[in-house]
Amino acid sequence: MSVQLVSIIISIAISGITIPLETKNMKGWIFGSERQKQWTQQIYRHRSKFQNPLHQNYKHLKALESSLDLKPTDLFSVVCFVGDASFKTAMPENVTHIRGCLRFIRSKQERVFTESEVEALVVKLEELKLKRGLRTSLKHKANVSELVAEKSRQRQSGEACPKCGAELVERLAKRAKNAGNAFIGCSAYPRCKFTQ
Ligand SMILES: [Zn+2]
Repeated sequence: MSVQLVSIIISIAISGITIPLETKNMKGWIFGSERQKQWTQQIYRHRSKFQNPLHQNYKHLKALESSLDLKPTDLFSVVCFVGDASFKTAMPENVTHIRGCLRFIRSKQERVFTESEVEALVVKLEELKLKRGLRTSLKHKANVSELVAEKSRQRQSGEACPKCGAELVERLAKRAKNAGNAFIGCSAYPRCKFTQ
């Protein structure tokens, strides 16, 4: 395993990418700040609170820090929103949408660990049985890249999805029978399965 891959795995293991992809269905307006305990999601006039994802990540960071014997500066955290949520308050650099999230991860390329430190970390990680979590995180990372690729392929229709209000776009079928055929679907896929 290359050093870069390992450092990415380590950064991914603690990153917010594991938070929203499937589980949080975020659209509407998001209000929050670095220090607030709870953030607010507003859809039309309906408001609901959710835990500050930076604080959730902080717990993960601290757990990793103590179990791997790391300094706080060795780790970073990033929260990635998928879906159509828009931020209505200024967000820190590490709270972002998919694209910004990938950019953030790619921007963290400076060497934090020596090669032998990375090897030791990997051994420790294995010992800590974080394997499953890492696999999940890598799968999420693959999902993020797929989503980004898919979004940049899509042609916009300018029409709104009758089911959820997101924009309808031209998408390409992936299933065996229709693979490669274009169809109109919702840009919020996989959250919204509407097709025409
Ligand atoms: Zn839709």
